[in-house]
Amino acid sequence: MSDSAFATRCVHAGSGPHAPTGAVVNPIHQSSNFILDAPVYEAIADGRARDHAIYSRYGNPSQWAVQEKLAALEGAESALLFASGMAAISSAILAMTSEGGRVVASNTLYGGTLRFLNDLLPTYGRSVTLVPPDDVSAAAAACTEETELLFFETLSNPLLHICDVPALAAVARDHGARLAVDATFSTPALQRPLDQGADLVVHSASKYLNGHSDVIAGAAAGPRSLVDELWAHLLLLGGSADPHAAFLLERGMRTLHVRMRQHVENAQHVAEYLEQHPAVSSVRYPGLHSHPQHGLAQAQMDGAGAMITFTLKGGDEAGLALCDRTRLAVQATSLGGIETLISMPFNTSHAHMSDAEREALGILPGTVRLSVGIESADDLCADLASAL
Ligand SMILES: *Cc1c(COP(=O)(O)O)cnc(C)c1O
Repeated sequence: MSDSAFATRCVHAGSGPHAPTGAVVNPIHQSSNFILDAPVYEAIADGRARDHAIYSRYGNPSQWAVQEKLAALEGAESALLFASGMAAISSAILAMTSEGGRVVASNTLYGGTLRFLNDLLPTYGRSVTLVPPDDVSAAAAACTEETELLFFETLSNPLLHICDVPALAAVARDHGARLAVDATFSTPALQRPLDQGADLVVHSASKYLNGHSDVIAGAAAGPRSLVDELWAHLLLLGGSADPHAAFLLERGMRTLHVRMRQHVENAQHVAEYLEQHPAVSSVRYPGLHSHPQHGLAQAQMDGAGAMITFTLKGGDEAGLALCDRTRLAVQATSLGGIETLISMPFNTSHAHMSDAEREALGILPGTVRLSVGIESADDLCADLASAL
């Protein structure tokens, strides 16, 4: 898909004028249920209920607008909106596995996903093997006849490991399994895993897709038959998105292309600034030559994202002082909003680990995570300079 086609789809796909009223913007369909008539009864009888407005847990026109937009952006046949990223991820993993089946997944997944895999999934009769996200041969070696699903993230948190999507898709195919990719950190503006061989892409839409730190939502996109299976799970697990959240998400996604362009440009600028700063011992950013997978980032992404992880020579004390001193960069968890956020993994996402466990992952004392926003990059560097 060309950049111009992507930009036009961001603005228009699923967001056409609302024919009954002439409203230029889709209204919020704040209704729990809808009128039943002959075509709806027929659709229910034929098992096509997903395509009709019946009851908002099953689907709602405000959700459908977002689903149509995301499908257009991912190059997918179908998409499904959820109440949160975790609702999308848990429904997807359950829908793509069966009792006795195995999952091979990255050992650096989002904490909630890891806990779902380790603590909850075994109670459903599925087992899990974790492998490093950047080691395709380890993933292949972990696959057995029972392996049904490979689950990886385009970029990991906080160390920004990159998974090789085409290579993992080939491993999945060789073992009769499927590949699902969490593309929260990259978004379809930077990488479209379905085009690269993945079977399903999932998102926490709470991050870049929405982009304004004011919505919790999730989404999945892929072939219609597979997304229908996810929908069957959504109906029973109940993780259906609220129409107002869907409306806000639709509005956020209409500017995804311009936001991501600025996020990436700013992140490159800030990463280069940090790399030469005397107080900084190392910087992880896939757009830097120093990133061990810089070449892979260039090969499979249209931009290196906007998350930067760096380590201060002064350790955690220096990191905490930096987080307290920045004026523009807000000290908060989460990521992907237009405002720059700063936090440390040791007392947030990775607080449940010991120092040794964190260091084994590569999270050294003094490691700071930056979600670079779309403010002026010069102002962000000046903010970091004075805080450092
Ligand atoms: C935040 C996040 C999730 C969870 O999404 P929620 O919307 O908070 O449920 C999953 N994966 C990644 C990579 C995330 O960053």
